[in-house]
Amino acid sequence: MTNSDTRTAAAGWSVADSAALYSLDRWGEPYFSVNGRGHISVQPQGERGGSLDLFDLVQGLQGRNLGLPLLIRFDDILEDRLERLHAAFERAIAQYGYGGKYQGVFPVKCNQQRHVVEELVSCGRRWHFGLEAGSKAELLIALSLIDDPEALLICNGYKDQRYIETAILARRLGRQPVVVIEQADEVERIIKASHALGAAPFIGIRAKLSSRSTGRWGSSVGDKAKFGLSIPDLLATVEALRAADLLGDLRLLHFHVGSQINDIAVLKDALQEAGQIYVELTKLGAPMGYLDVGGGLGVDYDGSRTATAASTNYSLQNYANDVVATVRECCEPHGVKVPTLVSESGRAIASHFSVLVFNVLGSAQVPAALPAGKEDEPLTVRNLRETLAGITAANSAEEGSLSRLQEAWNDAIKFKDDALAAFRLGYLGLPERALAEQLTWACATAIVERLPRGGAIPDDLKSLRAALAGTYYANLSVFRSAPDTWAIEQLFPLLPIHRLDEEPTRLGHFADLTCDSDGKLARFIGDGQAKPLLELHAPQEGQPYLIGMFLGGAYQEVMGNLHNLFGTTNAVHIRLAPGGGYQVDHVVRGDTNAKVLEAMEHQPGLLLERLRVASEAAIQRGDLKISDAQRLMDHLETSLRQTTYLQS
Ligand SMILES: *Cc1c(COP(=O)(O)O)cnc(C)c1O
Repeated sequence: MTNSDTRTAAAGWSVADSAALYSLDRWGEPYFSVNGRGHISVQPQGERGGSLDLFDLVQGLQGRNLGLPLLIRFDDILEDRLERLHAAFERAIAQYGYGGKYQGVFPVKCNQQRHVVEELVSCGRRWHFGLEAGSKAELLIALSLIDDPEALLICNGYKDQRYIETAILARRLGRQPVVVIEQADEVERIIKASHALGAAPFIGIRAKLSSRSTGRWGSSVGDKAKFGLSIPDLLATVEALRAADLLGDLRLLHFHVGSQINDIAVLKDALQEAGQIYVELTKLGAPMGYLDVGGGLGVDYDGSRTATAASTNYSLQNYANDVVATVRECCEPHGVKVPTLVSESGRAIASHFSVLVFNVLGSAQVPAALPAGKEDEPLTVRNLRETLAGITAANSAEEGSLSRLQEAWNDAIKFKDDALAAFRLGYLGLPERALAEQLTWACATAIVERLPRGGAIPDDLKSLRAALAGTYYANLSVFRSAPDTWAIEQLFPLLPIHRLDEEPTRLGHFADLTCDSDGKLARFIGDGQAKPLLELHAPQEGQPYLIGMFLGGAYQEVMGNLHNLFGTTNAVHIRLAPGGGYQVDHVVRGDTNAKVLEAMEHQPGLLLERLRVASEAAIQRGDLKISDAQRLMDHLETSLRQTTYLQS
């Protein structure tokens, strides 16, 4: 037995306690759990495949010179998400006897990384899974990657003439681009381009729904929404297409109620409204055939299954059922053939597959060691020592021990205030004041250690734990790797990926490497609402302490920025190997310092040269030894080749 095993056994802490504490059993299903060694275990194919020990995996990757922080992309999870999405729609279609099919697309804006999009296109081939583009650059990605003539290529976003002509011409390549009219003036450009080229694209219309929405992205619908056509505009567009003899190309109705729909009732309302518009469009003579319900399928980040920001009150299956059933209910009474259902789920597909692992560089905690008492200490200091001795001597199992702890804490506060007053009046020196503060913290620590785990605890004793909380310095930039935690207070599951068989005895939050006081992670999954401090372990000298941030595969990478010039982290693509274990499919090295400097138009070579000249001058003046000058230049050159993070 190692040291930590003994401590664990003594404290009666099990890995199941950790799973409960970090809500792992709620948000982690079916991909993440904790194994008997107290490490996070990843089941990249859910319950159908093998598992990997995340801590061992990270060590194996570090052995391949892939330093932390490290973004690990589990391509099996990406594929599994696609399978679940399609299986959910297939089940719903069978259950409701829906006479059409489902054919999804991935919104590229959610994660444009080449290996990610390529993986999705290749895994999605068996369902003719397509892509959604919102800009010319994304259109370029989509056009070049999709070569399945049945897969849809939904073109959203603002479109100029060149965008539209590109889409029309791409049809000749055997692609299936659908140009979605999002703004009233786009129809004129489409008509112009179609006449000029003598061909038309598949046309879609995005409707601006009036159904209510909630949540962070609630303003994506309603009269003030940025995109989509109001009903009068929609009718005018249909007539303009008819007049230009293009109504026969109107194939798709699109709507999008915003990202991370928390409440399924919002979706149902939108579906009913959109379903009726679809029916009306067919009555107006458009051939139609596709109903695109947009994105918004939510992710249950905190595992609470509630209609709150970090959660959803529905499952993937509930979602698919509602889409299928509602659309059928709209079409059937009117004898309209049900459409092929399209969805543009980004978050729900791409969140789970990537895990960010970072190391803790150190922690600022209340000082632990106390200097031994001396004969001639001032009275306030002696009083504090006695208070501490009283606390440590107390038997916490004894009747009335809580009220004695409370009393001791009141005393400690009083003596500390005395010490401060004495310092202000010049009766106490700086070393004695430091001692008084240290003793006060020692009293607090000793009290917290003696508090019972459950039961009613007086408020000011309870808050002592928080007051003793520490800052854990994290080797990452929040602005680069978890921008939404800062921008929109997004909650991601965060927890150590090892030592989960050991009780975390401390509370803390994470501060990142940037010189920005916003650069912190201080919102964690709590009971009912997010909490500002997380249960963590005391760092061990010489041992790594590794933290995982989960469910961050959507939006974080591209929204991340270069604040303080922290660049992308190393990233790897992992697959379960057929014979057990894992294989590293791709390695994407993080930005080097040279690269981030170049991004700001600096020339690394020129910077080096200036410093070389400066060090030559220092050598001439006799201020710098040649060997030290060489060492300085070596450090600079090496740093330029390395990633921007702290090297262990
Ligand atoms: C952003 C966006 C999506 C993706 O939304 P998710 O919440 O990630 O599913 C889909 N469609 C459109 C039009 C979007 O703007």
